[in-house]
Amino acid sequence: MPQNADRRFRDDHRTRWYGFASMHLSQAARDALDKLRAVLAKEVGPIMPRAWESATMPPSVRETLASLDLMRPEGVAEVEADSTMFSGFRNYVLARTDASVATMHNGQSGLFRATVRHGGAPEQVAVLDPKVRSFALAGAFALTEPDHGSDIAGGLATTARFDEAAGDGEGRWIIDGAKRWIGGASTADIIAVFARDVADSQVKVFLVPSESSGLSMDTMVGKAALRPMQNSVIRFEEVAVPESARLREMNSWRDVNRILRVMRSDVAWIATGLQAGALDAALAYVRKREQFGRSIGSCQLVQEKLARILGNLTASLGMVVQLSAQQDAGNYVDANSALAKMQTARMARESVSLAREVHGGNGILLENDAARFFADAEAVYSYEGTHEVTALIVGPALTGESAFV
Ligand SMILES: Cc1cc2nc3c(=O)[nH]c(=O)nc-3n(C[C@H](O)[C@H](O)[C@H](O)COP(=O)(O)OP(=O)(O)OC[C@H]3O[C@@H](n4cnc5c(N)ncnc54)[C@H](O)[C@@H]3O)c2cc1C
Repeated sequence: MPQNADRRFRDDHRTRWYGFASMHLSQAARDALDKLRAVLAKEVGPIMPRAWESATMPPSVRETLASLDLMRPEGVAEVEADSTMFSGFRNYVLARTDASVATMHNGQSGLFRATVRHGGAPEQVAVLDPKVRSFALAGAFALTEPDHGSDIAGGLATTARFDEAAGDGEGRWIIDGAKRWIGGASTADIIAVFARDVADSQVKVFLVPSESSGLSMDTMVGKAALRPMQNSVIRFEEVAVPESARLREMNSWRDVNRILRVMRSDVAWIATGLQAGALDAALAYVRKREQFGRSIGSCQLVQEKLARILGNLTASLGMVVQLSAQQDAGNYVDANSALAKMQTARMARESVSLAREVHGGNGILLENDAARFFADAEAVYSYEGTHEVTALIVGPALTGESAFV
């Protein structure tokens, strides 16, 4: 790469996240993210258009990410590696390359790990967390059901019944029901299943081995977003697990909410990172495309679109950094996470649409990354709490009146 281009790349890189990161992360943490970014640029980014088209995640992607030990990178103190600021920037860097890759990694490092860490008793966490961090134990998070998405809190229909006579008199939990949209389930060793205890009607979480008798799954096909990321429908017919498989600190929907608010912030960071990726794609394209005898990057109306993307991106970054700073100071508020998810995903939708637009017709071709970001933003907009549902968490916090009867 010529020296000028090198300098420009560094400047762009600094503008879009380094300024924020340098205020909130140690040098070691920034080094780990720089290394991640370099690996993604060389080994992952180039293969994602093809992966998107074939709707398959190349196994090398997960292997590469696992080998980087991103949940406990070398030289980064444990407290910082586990901070929401670091996991946020990690999601940002991943999503800037590809939203499916970020969603896949976050399925393990965010959804599954948070469930184990916040839901497990200390002795369960001590055994499981190192395996989760290293990907030695791959997991999936199974909350959503075929008939219950936004209304899952009250509607969750999968049941767990403790049968004292089962398991040679030791007792077993018997799980029945179905889950839908479960990311990474097809490659998971363990599925974290949210089920309602028939004895007290409370929602509890069970770590169910994916090879369990009575468990079956199908990969969902025909997706128009996040295609390389596999989602599954899972059925449970009298699946038996021992008491030791139950996460002992998850005993009600209130406990589930403790993890959802962490997860919504992770997704807000993904929605921010994918805007950075869309801007990268738009800038690369307008620099090389000429019309009317000049670069389209010199056209005023094109520059206005780029400025709007950068405005959305910068506003999103400011919001997620502030959210993570609050959370790392111990201040977790449901409405704050919901607001960040709602707002960043909304801005992401506009940003990816503008990035696609400056590509003209080429913006729908997968060889141009903008096409992928454009489609993937739709899934990010809807998962982990839709626009309406997140708004209906923020609204009551403003008015003091619940929007749900
Ligand atoms: C790519 C992808 C990956 C996912 N991964 C996982 C996963 O790993 N694990 C998991 O458990 N789940 C996962 N999900 C599920 C996801 O969290 C749900 O899709 C989401 O919660 C919305 O539920 P739904 O799709 O059933 O929509 P619905 O709840 O059916 O909503 C349909 C529409 O109605 C609106 N709506 C519903 N209720 C109201 C209301 N009261 N007021 C106003 N509007 C309302 C919604 O906002 C939405 O616009 C994933 C989803 C996707 C798309």
